Amino acid sequence: MVIAGAGLAGLCAAARARELGAEPVVLEKGSRAGGSMLLSSGVVWRYRTFEEFRVQCPDGDERLQRLVFDALDEGLEWLESLGAPVLERETGNPLTTGARFDTQGLTDALVRAAGQVRFGQGLGTVPGAWPEGTVVLATGGFQGDRELVQRYVRPAAPLRVRANPWSSGDGLRAGLNQGAALSDGLDEFYGRNMADVDFGEGELVSLAQVYGRYARIFSERGEEFFDGHAVSWSELDLVQATAQQPGARAWYVLDERALEQRVRYGTVGELVAHAPTRVEPEELPFPSPPGAVTAVRVAAAITHTIGGLRVDERARVLDTDGRPLDGLYAAGADAGGISAGGYASGLASALVLGRAAAEDALR
Ligand SMILES: Cc1cc2nc3c(=O)[nH]c(=O)nc-3n(C[C@H](O)[C@H](O)[C@H](O)COP(=O)(O)OP(=O)(O)OC[C@H]3O[C@@H](n4cnc5c(N)ncnc54)[C@H](O)[C@@H]3O)c2cc1C
Repeated sequence: MVIAGAGLAGLCAAARARELGAEPVVLEKGSRAGGSMLLSSGVVWRYRTFEEFRVQCPDGDERLQRLVFDALDEGLEWLESLGAPVLERETGNPLTTGARFDTQGLTDALVRAAGQVRFGQGLGTVPGAWPEGTVVLATGGFQGDRELVQRYVRPAAPLRVRANPWSSGDGLRAGLNQGAALSDGLDEFYGRNMADVDFGEGELVSLAQVYGRYARIFSERGEEFFDGHAVSWSELDLVQATAQQPGARAWYVLDERALEQRVRYGTVGELVAHAPTRVEPEELPFPSPPGAVTAVRVAAAITHTIGGLRVDERARVLDTDGRPLDGLYAAGADAGGISAGGYASGLASALVLGRAAAEDALR
């Protein structure tokens, strides 16, 4: 068994395969394990009810959603049994349930359980024939490939990438070469509106501006393109709408009341005070709206794609007639369509589908 990607999905597939008696090889294109999971907030979650999952992600594949919903709690226990450190046993969101892990500890526990990881060896990126036997594609999506993002997501301008630097569609291309079908949700992505500056790996959470629901939201041209009151809890709808604005950018304009609101990591005022692209109202490139006390320039950033390869509930990659391709699996962000129409935990689907791939391949 060859597993492409040592992020959450690939490491879960490898660890589960080893438990079941196999000797998988994990190819990792990058120089370290953990993928975007290592950089993430580490909250692995599901909606509290399946009905809520359907309401939140109405265009997603219902069979895959059922699988993630039913299998997540067992998956979380399994991670803990491998020694992954839990930091919190709640998500802080009344709609969801799950756990927050220390991502370095989670990576270390999974690498121990996964066995052999070959760094600097990407599937399809180093010369060599297609591997013999079972292949699990777990390369983390195609957000790092500007051309693929332009083709499928179609933003108005290139998106900033808020992810590990190696996930650039190798799994998608490999699957398509083998005859795979594409999932729904190809034009959707999970991301954040970030302060509009170049950012490093250590700033992916701190520079995210997640208070659009309290702002008035304008394009660079001064058009108010999204009603702040209508922004969803995840703010994903606002991020995707920002991607369609000139330059894939926006201005969050805030009044006194907005600055007092409490969000996850403090008050809006505290977050705004640290935003490097904060300006005074008179510095806006359009007439300042009444009551504005400050504004922040944001740029849409892509964390991972939502569309990808079409898979079934055993993580088998399907062809355009809906038939499984022999010995080919996909998990994590390479497996598309689970959260189409909304937002669901990428870590949860990576955990559940990674394990499902190993279990099906070794049945
Ligand atoms: C800042 C941030 C915060 C986040 N917070 C959360 C959160 O709290 N909760 C949540 O659910 N999700 C969160 N996410 C999203 C989550 O990290 C992803 O959904 C998850 O990591 C996807 O798992 P994956 O295994 O598909 O991809 P990854 O974990 O990214 O792993 C993919 C791996 O594949 C490797 N790779 C790429 N190409 C090849 C190739 N050709 N051959 C071999 N290897 C290859 C990459 O180097 C990488 O190691 C966050 C992401 C970020 C960046």
